[in-house]
Amino acid sequence: MVQDALLRCAAVAAASLLIGACIALALAPPSVGPALGGDADRETLYQVSTIDALLQGVYDGSISFDELATHGDLGIGCGDRLDGELVGVDGEWYLVRTDGRASPTAGNAMTPFATATFFDPDMTVPIDEPKNLTALEGYLETKIPSKNLFYAIRFDGTFPRVVTRSVPAQEKPYPRLADVTANQTVFTFENVTGTAVGFWTPVLAKGVNVPGYHLHFITSDRNAGGHLLDMTVAEGSVQVDTTTNFTMVLPAGGDFWTVDLSENLSEDLKRAEK
Ligand code: ZN
Repeated sequence: MVQDALLRCAAVAAASLLIGACIALALAPPSVGPALGGDADRETLYQVSTIDALLQGVYDGSISFDELATHGDLGIGCGDRLDGELVGVDGEWYLVRTDGRASPTAGNAMTPFATATFFDPDMTVPIDEPKNLTALEGYLETKIPSKNLFYAIRFDGTFPRVVTRSVPAQEKPYPRLADVTANQTVFTFENVTGTAVGFWTPVLAKGVNVPGYHLHFITSDRNAGGHLLDMTVAEGSVQVDTTTNFTMVLPAGGDFWTVDLSENLSEDLKRAEK
């Protein structure tokens, strides 16, 4: 079927010299809704599962990294069974495990929780005096046009200090996330060049993602990083992409189907994220 399509496509392409585009069309998965790569798709936040499910130990991956990469070129999340902190930047995806090393991830490897979008910055916020992460986040909050939208965030620079963490892969029966992060591995980088990426989530999406900021970090050589716990910023500029569309993909089976999502997990979230 694909081969037939390719052959037909190649015949047309030979005349039009559009071989690359033609093969891409022939191999594209069937899509419902807006065409992949269209504006609507680029302005969509793609959410896999929910933070409240993750907090309660729903760690089995539900979509592949190859699939995730078709919905964004920037993002964060975690590996299957909580094996590593996920960082996606410039269309390349990495998992940072408890040895602090970042390794590329793709293919059929799965993620249980991730957020991605195509990053097209709408706003640049200059930082002209030193700040820690709390001050930086507070300052950014005064610059975003509305607290009720999703924003993708990217900050490239050389940072005097960056503190990250990662967590180890888990075995069933899975413990709650706050119990896993109680034993997280923390990494401190000094005078490190790299990129922080992540999202601002509005309170309206509480339970789905982390309200406020959730950022991960990766070094410029893409060798190390993790879930961002703190950073010191000297100067630079933060890029912000306002994202008004939202797509959520829930697991098609497994523990997600039976987990109780009616509880308020704010306390678990505070323990797990810091
Ligand atoms: Zn994280």
